[in-house]
Amino acid sequence: MNEMYRDFGIRDQILTLAAEMEKELSERFAKIDENAEYCQMKVLQAMQKHRVSEGCMEASTGYGYNDLGRETLEAVYASVFHAEDALVRAQITCGTHALALALSANLRPGDEILSPVGKPYDTLESVIGITPAKGSLKEFGVTYSQVDLLPDGSFDYEGIRKAINSKTKLIEIQRSKGYATRPTLSVARIGELIRFIKGIKPDVICMVDNCYGEFVEKLEPTDVGADLCVGSLIKNPGGGLAPIGGYIVGKAEYVEQCAYRLTSPGLGKEVGASLGMNRNFFQGLFFAPTVTAGALKGAIFAAKLYERLGFSVVPNGTEERYDIIQAVTLGTKEGLIAFCKGIQAAAPVDSFVTPEPWEMPGYSSEVIMAAGAFYQGSSIELSADGPLIAPYNVYFQGGLTWYHAKLGILMSLEEMAKAGCISL
Ligand SMILES: *Cc1c(COP(=O)(O)O)cnc(C)c1O
Repeated sequence: MNEMYRDFGIRDQILTLAAEMEKELSERFAKIDENAEYCQMKVLQAMQKHRVSEGCMEASTGYGYNDLGRETLEAVYASVFHAEDALVRAQITCGTHALALALSANLRPGDEILSPVGKPYDTLESVIGITPAKGSLKEFGVTYSQVDLLPDGSFDYEGIRKAINSKTKLIEIQRSKGYATRPTLSVARIGELIRFIKGIKPDVICMVDNCYGEFVEKLEPTDVGADLCVGSLIKNPGGGLAPIGGYIVGKAEYVEQCAYRLTSPGLGKEVGASLGMNRNFFQGLFFAPTVTAGALKGAIFAAKLYERLGFSVVPNGTEERYDIIQAVTLGTKEGLIAFCKGIQAAAPVDSFVTPEPWEMPGYSSEVIMAAGAFYQGSSIELSADGPLIAPYNVYFQGGLTWYHAKLGILMSLEEMAKAGCISL
């Protein structure tokens, strides 16, 4: 085995350290496998219950009326999430679109959104109108209020109680920390928050941004009271095989509103040709639990190794995980560039290119990104990025298999060693 890694240029000290860390993680990894096994059965149960058949793999075109595959897929998603209904479409272009759709479909002028967990994901700032943007909800008379988490990461229950008013129509709860520094929320904590909020205002819509969280735990937010749960198919639930798409699951009346907004009032779920995507969506969902497990192992392995080498990592090597994102504070520009170079060099696609920092639209500093993915921007595939500003954090996620994630991390260490950013 070590011969293979040496062929990739990885030095022996890194291999020795990695073997030691992997040994320490065996119990942790066994728990992740057990969770994947449970989620695999959850998915299989749903597929069998809804009689997924060969005919479901067919493509519809044009209007896409009576698309057996699309309708069955949505029933399967609803079952996996223990929800009443689902909208799972290639016409939902990404996670941001799915979230924007769920919000705009269920809010009307005069309504207010409340985020009780601090600032939402960057792209939602334009959707909501926190930063002025054309077509934002704010332009349509929807207001926004926010309650931050307390300094220790707990919910500000008093603040939330005060913020809920007669206009409050929808609560937006983001499960993953995204690129913020707050902790990711466990499904149990989301459940507590929803119970508290429903105790104050029972008819408010509790919507969860579930990006990067799917299949990390046995339960999903819809199991603990979420009315809507939203995510991207080029993250966990697409299993690396969905080339595009988003999903919305939850209460039938709210999902129906989303369908009318996505297509048209009167048409709703009845149209939307699947154009040959059904097979990818089914097979991706089938693989999603094991793919997510691989990504999770990679994140923990990276945390352990970099922590051991003296870097600060969030979450740390021993914390429970509720999403697949790993942040490492690399401390120097050279370190950040070397890390990304290593991830890129381990990729199945575009391994021969060198990532370079660039002025990306919408960012205040240069950003470097490493991604050698089968699908553009797919972040369930091994990828890393970070802004070129102190303290030089890299955000690292994905890996379609644990073995690939491991190679990526070892290559990142090798590049760091070559650049003199770590001493072994
Ligand atoms: C990725 C992500 C989004 C947005 O998804 P895109 O597919 O990139 O538009 C929203 N929220 C969170 C927490 C995410 O991780």
